[in-house]
Amino acid sequence: SGYWRLSKLAVPACDDPGKDFIGISLPLLQAIAKAIKFPVASMLPQEAFTVIRKSFDARKVLKEPQFIYTVDMDVKKLLDTEPRAWDFIARLEPKLGAVEYMAEEKLADDLISMLNINSKGSDDVLGIRDTQNGSTCTQQQKPRVAVIGSGPSGLFASLVLAELGAEVTLLERGQPVEQRGRDIGALAVRRILQSESNFCFGEGGAGTWSDGKLVTRIGRNTDGVQAVMKTFVHFGAPPNILVDGKPHLGTDKLVPLLRNFRHHLRELGVTIRFNARVDDLIVEDGLVKGVLVSDSELRPGSVSQKLSFDAVVLAIGHSARDTYCMLWRHNVDISPKSFAVGLRIEHPQELINNIQYSELAAEVQKGRGRIPVADYKIVKSVGETDSENELDIPEQSRSCYSFCMCPGGQVVLTSTNPSELCINGMSFSRRASKWANSALVVTVSSHDFKPFQSHGPLAGVEFQREFERRAAMMGGGNFVVPAQCVTDFISNRLSVTTLPPSSYRLGVRPSKLHELFPSYITEALQQSIIMIDREMPGFVSSKALLHGVETRTSSPLQILRHGETYESTSLRGLYPIGEGAGYAGGILSAAVDGMYCGFALAKQLSLFQGDV
Ligand code: FAD
Repeated sequence: SGYWRLSKLAVPACDDPGKDFIGISLPLLQAIAKAIKFPVASMLPQEAFTVIRKSFDARKVLKEPQFIYTVDMDVKKLLDTEPRAWDFIARLEPKLGAVEYMAEEKLADDLISMLNINSKGSDDVLGIRDTQNGSTCTQQQKPRVAVIGSGPSGLFASLVLAELGAEVTLLERGQPVEQRGRDIGALAVRRILQSESNFCFGEGGAGTWSDGKLVTRIGRNTDGVQAVMKTFVHFGAPPNILVDGKPHLGTDKLVPLLRNFRHHLRELGVTIRFNARVDDLIVEDGLVKGVLVSDSELRPGSVSQKLSFDAVVLAIGHSARDTYCMLWRHNVDISPKSFAVGLRIEHPQELINNIQYSELAAEVQKGRGRIPVADYKIVKSVGETDSENELDIPEQSRSCYSFCMCPGGQVVLTSTNPSELCINGMSFSRRASKWANSALVVTVSSHDFKPFQSHGPLAGVEFQREFERRAAMMGGGNFVVPAQCVTDFISNRLSVTTLPPSSYRLGVRPSKLHELFPSYITEALQQSIIMIDREMPGFVSSKALLHGVETRTSSPLQILRHGETYESTSLRGLYPIGEGAGYAGGILSAAVDGMYCGFALAKQLSLFQGDV
């Protein structure tokens, strides 16, 4: 009994049923047979194999593009049907990275089996209310917890806490997805920016109208990430996100998922209040006792409401600058944090397909959907600038990288205030638009924020704001985005010919983007764009358009907290989580942070004794 994990199984793209197929095809059985040296592939029973990962590889060094699989082989199931396979299994030797033996229990990772997601009924998603490892709340008086923010971190913290028996109130300054969709529509069509309901604020947080890429640097196979992914599937995400090497959802899949999440939380007894902005914390003797909430539409005559809680989870994302200021006023421990700023480059998707796929590009263009539209991921390190201004030379070298690349997507406005302009990218699940966009960003750190040091730990926020204001001025207002041909940007000249078309709906204006940032950022971007073109010839093209400005790549600060308890180091009863607190950098990592905070807080509230 037990499993063998077979990885690096290559199936030529032309033989594979396509990117969305996650079953066991005959060409895959042939690759498996080759790996275990079994002579007749068709005799291997499909049910003995499960696809664990499927990725697409079109690197030019390969003879032909291929799908690369990782597959688990269930020895018992295999031998039940095909006993002759035993001779071949007995000869298998574990080789690192290709063939690995896994005892049965190894496959059941601790957290998921504890959360028991698959075997529970639909009303007990994480399955933790009657887990053997934990204990449910038996107290008469349930502890009251406020969760501020309904992004991934706030949603998962609410879910865990509610399942473990806390009385959870989820306070969200923005609108539910239905109204938020209308507000975003009004922004795209009528240029009306709702300050509390936009691409950053509202149900689901910043990730809702996004590309919905579910990639993370915290380890795809970790228990926390797997638990989050399975929860997404439970709420309606397609199951292939569990297998796909580069899973993504797209806005059209995220919106119904969030609606299901909301219904489930309400069934668990969570009070969800939209249009409810937390303006202040009620603090007594260094302990948070509650919050001050106001109707975020600020209707005349509306008054703030005082709400009391035993604990407050702060899941505010990285754009709640007013809330950051409020925390600073309370002397909450905050420290500036490195992040990255830059521009968003957009190419015709066809051009990126041609660069990345050569002969397969034609198939993508025909829209057959068998292979994914091409993307790219680039990291470059660029050297010291020769500027004599000491403020311009904060570091020996900087890293410049592509960020949030959206194949088949569009450039969108992520401003939360009309006098500041910043952008990002989003897509729908089919990634069928004719554009490919990606941020190209350069790391900046506290040294760079020096001109803004009067803003204390919020210096990084002011640094962002400075370039967002400049971008708004360059665009000339009305959310028009300053833009420049990449060829002109690297030559430091204004684009005089007509700009290539852009997916950005509110218009672009030819601008000197090379003058927007200090020279150390501009030069780092220019140098890396030239280096990228060497790797991806055609990247520098008259069809490639740079858009300004990309500033909110991650939080410019960290709200300090204790490692085990997640509690603020300076204010008891406050639990800062997710991207806004500086502990996550995307949908998955934010959700995982929220989930673990939920467990840690439940433990402190004596709702739970288990270990996760
Ligand atoms: P958020 O999702 O930002 O949620 C914070 C919530 O708190 C918001 O809903 C906000 O309204 C609310 N809030 C703030 N202050 C208050 C207050 N005072 N009172 C009440 N409520 C408050 N990540 C990926 O992994 N993949 C992607 O493809 C991707 N694409 C993106 C595309 C766009 C356009 C954007 C903007 C972001 C994208 N991201 C993507 C980043 C991702 O959305 C974030 O990393 C993630 O949402 C962070 O989760 P969070 O819970 O920490 O905060």
